[in-house]
Amino acid sequence: MTGANEVKRLRDALQQRVPSRQYKTWFAALNVEKAGAGGVTISTDSRFKRDWLERYYGDMLREVVASVFAEETTLNVVVADPGIEIAASVTAVAVGEDTTRAAVPAPPAMSSPAARRPVRQSSPKPSDGPDLVLNRKYTFDNFVVGPSNQFAHAAARAVADKPAASYNPLFLHSYVGLGKTHLLQAICHQARQTSGKQPNVLYLSSETFMNEFIASVGKGELDRFRYRYRNADILLIDDIHLLANKERTQEEFFNTFNTLYNADRQIVLSSDSPPDEIPSLRERLVSRFKWGLVAEIRPPGFETRLAILRHKANALSISVPEDVLSFLAETVDTNIRELEGAITKTTGYAQLTGQTICLDLAHQALGLGPRDATQQVTGIERIVNVVCKHYAVTLADILGRKRTQSITLPRQVAMFLARRLTPHSLEELGEYFGKRDHTTVLYGVDKIRNKAKEDPRFQQLLHDLEARIQR
Ligand code: ADP
Ligand code: MG
Repeated sequence: MTGANEVKRLRDALQQRVPSRQYKTWFAALNVEKAGAGGVTISTDSRFKRDWLERYYGDMLREVVASVFAEETTLNVVVADPGIEIAASVTAVAVGEDTTRAAVPAPPAMSSPAARRPVRQSSPKPSDGPDLVLNRKYTFDNFVVGPSNQFAHAAARAVADKPAASYNPLFLHSYVGLGKTHLLQAICHQARQTSGKQPNVLYLSSETFMNEFIASVGKGELDRFRYRYRNADILLIDDIHLLANKERTQEEFFNTFNTLYNADRQIVLSSDSPPDEIPSLRERLVSRFKWGLVAEIRPPGFETRLAILRHKANALSISVPEDVLSFLAETVDTNIRELEGAITKTTGYAQLTGQTICLDLAHQALGLGPRDATQQVTGIERIVNVVCKHYAVTLADILGRKRTQSITLPRQVAMFLARRLTPHSLEELGEYFGKRDHTTVLYGVDKIRNKAKEDPRFQQLLHDLEARIQR
């Protein structure tokens, strides 16, 4: 049984171990509920405190309890409220935590009803709020690696294996649909699997961060909000560029970032552009985003697109002929989401119509019309017609030998669009465009593709021309 003497000795020992402010915040309410053969049970006055003690002071508490009760013993921390369930044991969650490293935020308000909810026996999570909403397919196993994404992928893996050990923060950026969300969530899946103890992993979009922040200010629950986010072991925020112009949320995030960073917690961010190109982002955030590793995911090349399609077909357990995969990989070069859409459309169309998957079918599934010989020719003519009108050149110019820039550019644009919008081979196109070699067509197509990548206005023009052709 427990004597008042032991409680006092426990408190004294703790006071010697932690600074007085921390003692007051976290330990002053401690009481010894039970001590005996079944181990020592100490209580505190709220679930928040109990979780916090488990998480950050577990090792130290065990040591102190062992010294006071002079024996090896198991320790339980509970909430001293009969309406609240007994907590998980400290030993289960706190092993290996460095009790000195946390730059602790103020404890949240203790009075809100959610704080007094019974806790699940197995949950060491020190926070409320929505759990991770993860797509279970977004794993490293399902991520196809190629030259365009291997750097970002390797960094993500390193972070998942050893959070806060190498790249902090990890900042991934790319155009839409190239795998940022997939990689962020893969980190979550992996981090939850590999660690012995369950790290507190929080994944959310910057919009959710902002909405929760605003809501918590409105409800006077800012402390709870801060407790939740500043207590993550790994905080992953998707689409951080959406914080542009959101001054107060940026400020809050800045403080969250600092707290986590100083406490050696891992931060992972994604954005549609590099840190210094995010409009109206405070300079101090920009500079912090560059402290760790900034990795770009570029659009995948043909080989990677093909590998992704193969992977996807495998995942769907559908066998797709190689020429169809190549056709899709050639045709859809915008982003991976569209690439996935293309194969889903093709396989779905085959299932719906009961046909086998072939080039013709893929062509129809993508809405490119039937692969009919006469239509193909008409297709190119329409393309060349629209391009000629736009650049004010003639068909003879396009098909002829002139190599001035004012003719070469429209010629290459026409080749690019013909390659994109018709199923002709490079040889056939070379034949059409003034009996040129297929390598000339390939060169022209590449040139336009690269120009579009570098120049968004040019890319827009290509989209406009394409829309006009398909009207
Ligand atoms: P972002 O967040 O950059 O807009 P997503 O992560 O949402 O892009 O990716 C779009 C789609 O493409 C998702 O379904 C994702 O699984 C898939 N995807 C992206 N990159 C790859 C890859 N390297 N291998 C396999 N699938 C990928
Ligand atoms: Mg995304």
